[in-house]
Amino acid sequence: MNELGRVLDVVVIGGGQAGLAIAWHLQQHGLDYLILDEQTSPGGNWRNYYESLQLFSPAEYSALPGRAFPGNPKGYPLRDEVVQYLEKYAAEFQLPFQGGTGVVAVVQKDKTFEVRAANGSTFAARAVVAASGGFSRPYMPDVPGLKSFSGTCLHSSAYRTPEAFAGQRVVVVGAANSAVQIAYELANVAQVVLATREKIRLFPQRILGLDFHTWLKFTRLEHTRWLSDQSTPVLDTGKYRKALDTGRLQRKAMFQQVLPDGVVWPDGTIHQTDALIFATGFRPNLAFLPQLPVADRQGRVLQQDGVADQVPGLYFVGLPKQRNFASATLRGVGTDAGYLMPQLLRHLERVGSTETPVQRSRNPASGLQGKRASHRRQSS
Ligand SMILES: Cc1cc2nc3c(=O)[nH]c(=O)nc-3n(C[C@H](O)[C@H](O)[C@H](O)COP(=O)(O)OP(=O)(O)OC[C@H]3O[C@@H](n4cnc5c(N)ncnc54)[C@H](O)[C@@H]3O)c2cc1C
Repeated sequence: MNELGRVLDVVVIGGGQAGLAIAWHLQQHGLDYLILDEQTSPGGNWRNYYESLQLFSPAEYSALPGRAFPGNPKGYPLRDEVVQYLEKYAAEFQLPFQGGTGVVAVVQKDKTFEVRAANGSTFAARAVVAASGGFSRPYMPDVPGLKSFSGTCLHSSAYRTPEAFAGQRVVVVGAANSAVQIAYELANVAQVVLATREKIRLFPQRILGLDFHTWLKFTRLEHTRWLSDQSTPVLDTGKYRKALDTGRLQRKAMFQQVLPDGVVWPDGTIHQTDALIFATGFRPNLAFLPQLPVADRQGRVLQQDGVADQVPGLYFVGLPKQRNFASATLRGVGTDAGYLMPQLLRHLERVGSTETPVQRSRNPASGLQGKRASHRRQSS
């Protein structure tokens, strides 16, 4: 049974920054849409990241469309400030968010989609935007012997604070921002080695007094694909370089094997350790699209700039490197969402709602405002 008794223009799956950014654009165009999320409030997975997380981009480059990030524009907001910003963003723009609604399947039916939720409700829509996050499925490499390890073994997504590791020997795996941030703060209370496949690529956070992100803007490099083809640099104010140079933080080439109480480095030496923390990245979570041709055998999403290759009416926002290096960041996601709009509007006109979305937004008799109010009632 269709929960709303009507066909929506768009269902957005996921109410993190990506879902909110596309919702803002849908709202500007007066579309009839709904954000579904398994979590109870908007903001996505920011609230689940480690406590000390601080944005690598300054506030002035970390905003979604239509609302500046509050506070010092040159400052680097903390995790909880991001959560607050996103919650307020959804509330202020009255974006129709229905929490507690995990989507389990999206099925194409003629010109519409049927979106099925775990709680049994279904929704019909002419288009679907998957904004379910590129960083929600933790990835850990398959290292020989890992299962035999008797100490603490976790992915960085489960790491919260350093206190639990006080006085321990810890190996942190990974060469990107999370690995270095976590290893650095752990080094205050524990003996830490960073194990990386490649050298850590430290890049100055500020150059000639300006933030790295300002340079990306001035040079227009942020709009190129070239940048997204490079490995992610670790932005450094100088503290990581110093910690590595002084040995406060050690870096070693990735271990080859795990033993019950340690790891074996490439030269054969054994390093005893109490804990292994894998900051080895994530994969997109698109498990709710199994019946649609959206990924190849290697799991790569079949899309171009956010438009699904083989499923008309299906779009993505927030995939890593979807259009450029900033696609899965606060900074880039709003632009990517806006880029999709002309194509999404054309699709809606093609599949024929009785009025075009633009006509409907000009016609108060269509009752769109009333529909919005009814979404809000359901989500509260
Ligand atoms: C450790 C870490 C540090 C980061 N640091 C930065 C940073 O400094 N600056 C920056 O700009 N970016 C950073 N990012 C990248 C990115 O901005 C965040 O990951 C951000 O949370 C991505 O937002 P999102 O909306 O795409 O996805 P998410 O925040 O993951 O939100 C996805 C939403 O979709 C929902 N969802 C998923 N599946 C379903 C389903 N089947 N049905 C219903 N709902 C569903 C989830 O509940 C969630 O609310 C970082 C990422 C990580 C992992």
